[in-house]
Amino acid sequence: MEYVRPKALGEALDALAAFDDPTPLAGGTDLMVEVNLNHRRPDVVVSLRSLDELRRWDDTWIGAGVTFARLEGADDPALAQLARTVGSPQIRAAATLGGNLGTASPAADSLPFLAAADAHVVLKSTAGERRLRWDEFFVGPKQTVRRPDELIVGVELPSRPERQAFAKVGVRQAMVISMVSCCVLRDPSGPTRVALGSVGPTVLRATDAEEVASQAARLTDTDLDEFQRRVSAEVRPITDHRSTAEYRRHAAGVVARRALERCLR
Ligand SMILES: Cc1cc2nc3c(=O)[nH]c(=O)nc-3n(C[C@H](O)[C@H](O)[C@H](O)COP(=O)(O)OP(=O)(O)OC[C@H]3O[C@@H](n4cnc5c(N)ncnc54)[C@H](O)[C@@H]3O)c2cc1C
Repeated sequence: MEYVRPKALGEALDALAAFDDPTPLAGGTDLMVEVNLNHRRPDVVVSLRSLDELRRWDDTWIGAGVTFARLEGADDPALAQLARTVGSPQIRAAATLGGNLGTASPAADSLPFLAAADAHVVLKSTAGERRLRWDEFFVGPKQTVRRPDELIVGVELPSRPERQAFAKVGVRQAMVISMVSCCVLRDPSGPTRVALGSVGPTVLRATDAEEVASQAARLTDTDLDEFQRRVSAEVRPITDHRSTAEYRRHAAGVVARRALERCLR
């Protein structure tokens, strides 16, 4: 295995262009697990650890190299909440947002926030830059449209409301991969966006449920019942080693309703 450690973004892009099937390495919390289990045998690993350019973070931009430990301090409540649920402190110290996007697991915890925020993923290569909406970037379970010569450099975040909530369900309280995850962003005047993870091939938006939640500044119990019913109807879960499709469908409605109720307080 060849190991390359570029010192700047341009050098990293050159390295990605120079090899046939290069594998970027960020925190290694997904990649090294796969290597240890013999699920992946990369010929060329391009380390991103020295790239300060990927660590920039402000209100409208999160660099791919920003770790979940840093995101725990986010001003966006949902972003801080989700960051705190990722793995353990040791995992969060290494795991990056770019790695979460690169693996593109349907259970990746940053995805519901990015989908609810209508984030764009920015990719760079020696050929130039591509800016893709989240639903153009993720195309299936662990599948994205990223080419091998491209690096995820970060995500662009449009303006978003302050009322936000993230919730996830797993087999226990901590150190757990989501069976269902949900992010709700709500403008106080009504408009509401709802995204769910682990209940479809990729993260998804519950647009029918959003219509009910967005109709008014004050929602009645009947509205909330209908919101919950629509979320459960819209998700597309499967049964796997973590949960059954039936449980996930039920839990998605409950978790989304609780997240919405937190935004209404
Ligand atoms: C014990 C444990 C608990 C975990 N708990 C959670 C959890 O609760 N929630 C959760 O969402 N995840 C969890 N994970 C998974 C993992 O920590 C995250 O997906 C993390 O964000 C991966 O980031 P990384 O920097 O370690 O990525 P890496 O492992 O370095 O890379 C992951 C993939 O992305 C690619 N990649 C990395 N950076 C880039 C880039 N900038 N451009 C292009 N491709 C890139 C790599 O080539 C690789 O394919 C857990 C993992 C472990 C081991």
